[in-house]
Amino acid sequence: MGGDEQKYVNEAFNTNWIAPLGPNVDGFENDLKNYTGIADVAALSSGTAALHLALILAGVTNGDDVICQSFTFSASANPIVYCGARPIFIDSEPDTWNMCTELLEKAIKQGLEQGRKPKAIVFVHLYGMPAKTQEIVDIANRYQILTIEDAAEALGSEINGKKLGTYGNFGVLSFNGNKIITTSGGGALISNDIIAVEKARFLATQARDPAPHYQHSEIGYNYRMSNICAGIGRGQMRVIDERVKRRREIFDFYYQELSSIPGIDFLIEPSGYFSNRWLSTITVNPKSGVTRETLRLALDRENIESRPLWKPLHLQPVFSSYPTFENGTSAKLFRDGLCLPSGSNLTDEDLNRIVNVIKLAIE
Ligand SMILES: *Cc1c(COP(=O)(O)O)cnc(C)c1O
Repeated sequence: MGGDEQKYVNEAFNTNWIAPLGPNVDGFENDLKNYTGIADVAALSSGTAALHLALILAGVTNGDDVICQSFTFSASANPIVYCGARPIFIDSEPDTWNMCTELLEKAIKQGLEQGRKPKAIVFVHLYGMPAKTQEIVDIANRYQILTIEDAAEALGSEINGKKLGTYGNFGVLSFNGNKIITTSGGGALISNDIIAVEKARFLATQARDPAPHYQHSEIGYNYRMSNICAGIGRGQMRVIDERVKRRREIFDFYYQELSSIPGIDFLIEPSGYFSNRWLSTITVNPKSGVTRETLRLALDRENIESRPLWKPLHLQPVFSSYPTFENGTSAKLFRDGLCLPSGSNLTDEDLNRIVNVIKLAIE
């Protein structure tokens, strides 16, 4: 925590705003608007809820196809299935590890040939690294398909000074406990379409029509953020820039200490791209004689947790039957990639200990 969170939470208690609305919810939405430069923000109970509402607002219904990046956390795709739609998975490209634009266009063309135009495209900025965003948005515009930008891991990341989450028709943020800032659990839907965000707020509060009694003409959801959680979020917004700075320092330290070792590679920011470095990741080339697992187990023996990169969704048992456009990139990243400890509260001593274990394991 940054220090001011409790002040906002106490304010909520003192004023009895213990509800999924209130001054902290409004304040947190304003903080996010100012920080990202977006026109409107709906604070929600999770990033997953934000993805679900974005799909509904994009008109996704039963039997539709939705294109989705395969190399991501399952929450990027689960809401597609909630809508009764079919995910079409797209593999990654090596520069950013995010959606491959060639395969994206191939999938759209194939859908059109089969008379099944995809309803939306969910692309992701994994580990905070910006995807080839302008290219993806240009393709989507050319075929008039709406984009949902999953920036759950990428708050604070930018391309040419413009914050991620603001490029797609809809942007999704997450404030889950493991993200760069947290409200314990929470998310947001952000968009320059202020009518759509207003509709998201309506759907997120059980779709209650304006009437003195309870009146409903649509199916609603209970997806609004609580005023307590939003208080934590307001405090966290005061330290977001520090958090990004620290995560980038952690990445730079690993890079400085490990990048000259043959077989260990880092993901470098393409020109104009700025990553929040939510997680520091490496790939280990098995031809070097050391594998990702050698390093993971060596760290584990020292009680240091590290984790393989996300397992691509097209390789997950629950999603393996859906169509996939593959080039092998994400499967290889899953085989060779490792997320190193990356928490903002790691000390310099912790970091030295981690790189020493890695160096010893390689020797
Ligand atoms: C965390 C995450 C989500 C979901 O956010 P929640 O707030 O946990 O529901 C969606 N997509 C990605 C890429 C994530 O990392």
